[in-house]
Amino acid sequence: MAEQDVDLFVVGAGSGGVRAARVAASHGARVMIAEEYRVGGTCVIRGCVPKKLLVYASRFSDDFEDAEGYGWTVPDPVFHWPSLAANVEREVTRLEAAYTATLDRFDVALVKSRAVLEDAHTVRLLSTGACVRAETILIATGAWPHYGPKMPGLEYVISSNEAFHLPELPGRIVIQGGGYIAVEFACIFAGLGSDVTLVYRGQNILRGFDDDVREHLRNEMRNRGITVTCGHTVTGVEKAGDEFKVLLSDGSTVDADKVMFAIGRRPNHMGLGLDTAGVRIAEHGGIAVNEYSRTSIDNIYAVGDVTHRVNLTPVAIREGHAFADTLYGGRPTPVDHTNVPTAVFSEPEIGVIGLTEEQARQQLARLDIYKTTFRPMKATLAGRDTRSFMKLLVDGVTDRVVGCHLIGPDAGELIQIVGVAVKMGATKADFDATMAVHPTAAEELVTMREKAVSYGRAAAE
Ligand SMILES: Cc1cc2nc3c(=O)[nH]c(=O)nc-3n(C[C@H](O)[C@H](O)[C@H](O)COP(=O)(O)OP(=O)(O)OC[C@H]3O[C@@H](n4cnc5c(N)ncnc54)[C@H](O)[C@@H]3O)c2cc1C
Repeated sequence: MAEQDVDLFVVGAGSGGVRAARVAASHGARVMIAEEYRVGGTCVIRGCVPKKLLVYASRFSDDFEDAEGYGWTVPDPVFHWPSLAANVEREVTRLEAAYTATLDRFDVALVKSRAVLEDAHTVRLLSTGACVRAETILIATGAWPHYGPKMPGLEYVISSNEAFHLPELPGRIVIQGGGYIAVEFACIFAGLGSDVTLVYRGQNILRGFDDDVREHLRNEMRNRGITVTCGHTVTGVEKAGDEFKVLLSDGSTVDADKVMFAIGRRPNHMGLGLDTAGVRIAEHGGIAVNEYSRTSIDNIYAVGDVTHRVNLTPVAIREGHAFADTLYGGRPTPVDHTNVPTAVFSEPEIGVIGLTEEQARQQLARLDIYKTTFRPMKATLAGRDTRSFMKLLVDGVTDRVVGCHLIGPDAGELIQIVGVAVKMGATKADFDATMAVHPTAAEELVTMREKAVSYGRAAAE
């Protein structure tokens, strides 16, 4: 093989790519990374980070209302979207600079360009047309919003990418989708004061989550004034001046100032030259990889959303880190994709880890379920009509906690810690033996004694 320009060429400077590049460089590899948009990728630029900042913003409306019950007099609060958008953009720019500085500090050569594969060892930089020879190539190009089949007026529809850059807060917004991004944006816009209609084609939002969680959140969203329309799709969008008429599959229409689709994200490998290099795409549409993130071509690897395994930032980061340790650190490191804790930053928030009830009933010979709903303490004086929910799924044979599903304030923070216990194989007896922290919501997790229901294999069939 001819001499290489670099040891590793990384395509895409998002969560997975940046981590892989930095760690590979720290192990002594000569690394180049190409980014066609902004360093930091989806999470930093138009995903987790700016979204969470919008979530914080949206929750102040409740805080202002709740404060009265606690003796505060709050003058009529006024929300100014352009200020929020500008502040979020400032923070995103700061993080982008921090990521760029990290790459620089580790001597990773950054090229601001789209990169495509010419063959298994050559990458072409479209900004200059230059080719770079690399011993190893890592594809970390993420995922891209999917808009569904063609329909009249699709050109008026925005995705989460554009939602961060709206010139003003829409008075009325229709969001199509039932996944976590759709649900989160529905709650964000509702909290900021928009009139929100969520349209989802399935029977209930948050497919793949535990059914109790799905039902509980849908009710909470409705209580908060969000119109949740399941079993329908958007079939067209008509523009009338500055407004839109959104046509639904049942023949009804909804008037809106903005229409957003969040109906899924597709692995982003179109036009990347993977076919020329011979890289195999799996049936689910992601790049097929083994447990070390190696593709069907020996020297080409892929991490993150483009592989469509578990599409979350910490997973992309872990995959990128493991790849670099495996190839350049002398430590073969497969990534364990089981029991990944995750949150939905809806209002109220969701935190989950492990099996859903449906999965547990299919997989276990005996299943014990503990669950509780209660009014969060803060809601009492505030007079707010909201309920928290907690559910533990316990293997009836081993006593191990195999699933935990939480809805309520700070559920995302809570599930991170529950995740440690579940990952360690904690049993229900371990939970019970843990002293409660009082008064908290989390204490419910260690004080649930009565089984809500038990299933044996026979009962499950
Ligand atoms: C609205 C939203 C909210 C989210 N919220 C969360 C959350 O709360 N928690 C969570 O864990 N995850 C969240 N995610 C998912 C998370 O952002 C992704 O899982 C994560 O960013 C995947 O990292 P990645 O490295 O695979 O790809 P990305 O971070 O998407 O990075 C890919 C990069 O590659 C670049 N690129 C693509 N093609 C090329 C090319 N040919 N040449 C050069 N550069 C290229 C892109 O511009 C991009 O910068 C969210 C996603 C969205 C959209």
